[in-house]
Amino acid sequence: MKKFRRTLSQKLSGTPLSPGIGVGRAYRIERQGPTFYQLHLSPEEIPRELQRLEEALLKSRKQLARIKDRFEKQLGKEHSFIIDAHLLILEDKEFLAQIETSIKDRFYSPERAVLEATEEWLAVYRSLSDSFFRERGSDLNEVSQRLVSNLGQQSVSRKERPSEDLILVGSEISLSDLSSFPMKQIKGLVSLRGGRTSHVNIIARVRQIPAVSGLVGLEDVIRTGDELIVDGLEGVVLVEPSAGQRNDFQVLLREEQNRSSKLEGDSDRSRTSDGREVSVFANTDIGDEVPTAFRLGAEGIGLFRSEFVYMRRTDGPARFRDQLKTYRRLARLVGRRPAVIRTLDMGTENHPYFGDLAGQDPVLGLRGIRLSLGHPDIFRDQLRAIIRARCDGNLKILLPMISSADELIIGRQLIQEVEREVARETDTAIQPVQIGAMIEVPSAVLALDGICKHADFVSVGTNDLIQFTLAVDRSSDELSPLFNPLHPAILRSLERISVVASQSHIPAYVCGEIAAQPLFVYLLIGMGFQRLSMNPISIPPVKKTIREVAYEQAQEQVQKLLQLSTIQEVEEFVEREMPSWESVSQRSLSDFVKV
Ligand code: PEP
Ligand code: MG
Repeated sequence: MKKFRRTLSQKLSGTPLSPGIGVGRAYRIERQGPTFYQLHLSPEEIPRELQRLEEALLKSRKQLARIKDRFEKQLGKEHSFIIDAHLLILEDKEFLAQIETSIKDRFYSPERAVLEATEEWLAVYRSLSDSFFRERGSDLNEVSQRLVSNLGQQSVSRKERPSEDLILVGSEISLSDLSSFPMKQIKGLVSLRGGRTSHVNIIARVRQIPAVSGLVGLEDVIRTGDELIVDGLEGVVLVEPSAGQRNDFQVLLREEQNRSSKLEGDSDRSRTSDGREVSVFANTDIGDEVPTAFRLGAEGIGLFRSEFVYMRRTDGPARFRDQLKTYRRLARLVGRRPAVIRTLDMGTENHPYFGDLAGQDPVLGLRGIRLSLGHPDIFRDQLRAIIRARCDGNLKILLPMISSADELIIGRQLIQEVEREVARETDTAIQPVQIGAMIEVPSAVLALDGICKHADFVSVGTNDLIQFTLAVDRSSDELSPLFNPLHPAILRSLERISVVASQSHIPAYVCGEIAAQPLFVYLLIGMGFQRLSMNPISIPPVKKTIREVAYEQAQEQVQKLLQLSTIQEVEEFVEREMPSWESVSQRSLSDFVKV
């Protein structure tokens, strides 16, 4: 079979997650360990590789010492023994000797030597029934991952990067994988797992990178270097296409590029058919998208995700100067129109330089505002950059993953401190920046009255709110039928947010993915929301939808919907009683192409 793999083209079908056509060479992202590592070394490479191992060990020990220090300060000495166990592994003479012997005598690369030694030791632990040793096994795994990742960062940068157009292929693709290559080079994403609302697929849609997921068996079929065509609308991937297929897709690709450069929106305010104004904003994460967002009719930037600003650097968190440049550019591009910058919201898998969090659950761990408050020096850099850039445009600050009013109060105090510092440094009076809270954790919905007292606005992140309220992983394609915004708990939460924000006289944005789906545009308007923020490309069709909605009718129907107690009743009511809204697909966007 393998012999014919490269001569016969193959077609794989999966779930379409971001429309468009992409053509390029496959580039496989490996999850287990670093992306690249040599299998065998030449004898001359050994001293240098031993040195690299030594440096990675040192770096890992330093990281662990820092964590230990923090644990002791925050939790007390009795909890730092967990870290001691990790440090002991890094000092274990037998373990280290085994790794070194593999490098010296078997010509293994340090990565391979570490992974193999870990595997052997784990096998021994597994054979012992004592729970002490089983736990030691999980410690060993964590330490080994840390060591390999500290080796990996160095080895990756030494490699020559490919220069071709690439289609990233992997069991799962992360934001940091995406940010490892120049965005222009990435022509598609092909994965086994990944849901519509996973960060990476949201970004893919914003950047118009085709993405297909749910491709079972892709590891057996696609190798790095294979030529691929990705059709993100149909959910199809062609591996090693025939000349005829290649030509057909090239024609489609050119048509699509032509169409997307001519996409136009209107800058008129959008009102419902009975005159209620609903503002439409854009979600983005790079300044380059801002002119397009305005061309497509955005009134401002409702959500500027700042993670990419951080990920462009691989040697550490983006510091003040890097960020100032980005936010200044954004401020100049928006001018008087608002741009809401969301402070750092990363999962631990995405930031090697917060390496001391490795091993934590990226979704339920120290992310969003918690991570920022735990690293005030890094947070202050970001706040200072935003506050300094504000003299060039209308920037606001949005704090992610707020779970209590307390976090918002502490965040606000820090922001005010930085404002005072900037006023002193620049000798100018600083107008207080508007501060918003993301509402995306169920506790924030329940504690919303308190949060609204301390926020200038709120912004509803439905992607996370659905994930956490329904306990359904947003990045799982398999679980997507359970990720249901029509669940009564979600509808009631959303309505509550709209009502409480309005009673508190503060605006409420909706910036999760549902804000771009016509049915939810209708429901959100019926709940009272007047600010929606979305992928720029969805703006023209959403404005069209808004103009077709009768606010009073939507309001009445939402009230009836809120009385229903099962998903089935809600879905039947929607089917039976509500206007049917066609979904916004890339093809329906052709209505908005200027001819
Ligand atoms: C959300 O959670 O809905 C949201 C807008 O934020 P993100 O998708 O970046 O988590
Ligand atoms: Mg979120």
